[in-house]
Amino acid sequence: MPEPLFRRLALIGIGLIGSSVARIARARGDIAHTLVANARTEATLARVRELDLADETTLDPAEAARGADCVMLCAPVGAYAALAAAIGPHLAPGAIVTDVGSTKQSVIRDVAPHIPAHAHFVPAHPIAGTEYSGPDAGFTTLFEGRYTLLTPLPGGDPSAVEKIAELWRRCGALIETMDAAHHDRSLAVVSHLPHLIAFTICGTADDLEEESRQDVLRFAASGFRDFTRIAASDPVMWRDVFLNNREALLEMLARFMEDAQAMARAVRWADAAYIEDKVERGRKIRRSLIALNQA
Ligand code: NAP
Repeated sequence: MPEPLFRRLALIGIGLIGSSVARIARARGDIAHTLVANARTEATLARVRELDLADETTLDPAEAARGADCVMLCAPVGAYAALAAAIGPHLAPGAIVTDVGSTKQSVIRDVAPHIPAHAHFVPAHPIAGTEYSGPDAGFTTLFEGRYTLLTPLPGGDPSAVEKIAELWRRCGALIETMDAAHHDRSLAVVSHLPHLIAFTICGTADDLEEESRQDVLRFAASGFRDFTRIAASDPVMWRDVFLNNREALLEMLARFMEDAQAMARAVRWADAAYIEDKVERGRKIRRSLIALNQA
């Protein structure tokens, strides 16, 4: 077996994403020699110990980071600034700080100022998830065949970037590198906007009078069911994503609302060709996703 990539990997936050990384590191043995877990609550750390997901657990992020050669932030992005401020002064020379946050410009804004010159920061985002959260939700195949996007800082250390890329490769992921602004715009369309629509449509349905609400539940067609699955996601995580990718999300929402208005107009004026064309386009997109193995 190849040497572990890291001696001591500290996971700051160990829910769906952090515990999946921990499970993979445990199963493979070539990612980290020692795993340290930090969470906000003792209940989560107790569960981490029951599941044997880490060698050490601590409620103190600074203690988790001390002596680690890799620190991975796996908490909701709204907590990153305070976490980075707490761990920054305790980072060992050469330590790599990385993250899994769903937004990248805000993470760079919040974390980079706290990383000392003797350490490295490599922002990353695994594009894989489910609607479940907490340390029980993780599993070893979560990242398999899915992309992890790296958004390295200009002038960052290429060998630190390569080590994080290798970590994700060992988790089964495909690697793509891009700048943070491009990441945030892309994810606004393919992830953040669909979640916003799902939360909204479930709210709309829930606002309907009692009689219709029963109909929604009893006759929920697959379209609505798919929205409810997405809408079951963690409220804190998504609050933080929306507030930390505000500009790109609002821009994509404005574009979407224009397109939705155009569809409404086509429905009003019975523009059958327009409607058919849009549905056909949706089908094509679905087919190409299946062909790319990303469905
Ligand atoms: P999760 O299952 O809700 O777990 C969050 C973890 O962070 C928990 O261990 C929680 O501890 C801890 N935490 C929360 N606030 C903290 C704080 N202030 N200090 C230290 N730890 C704190 O979340 P997740 O789904 O794994 O998401 C984690 C990150 O991954 C987020 O930044 C998210 O944007 C990103 N991400 C998520 C997905 C997805 O689909 N879920 C996909 C890709 C990336 P307690 O349990 O003690 O509260």
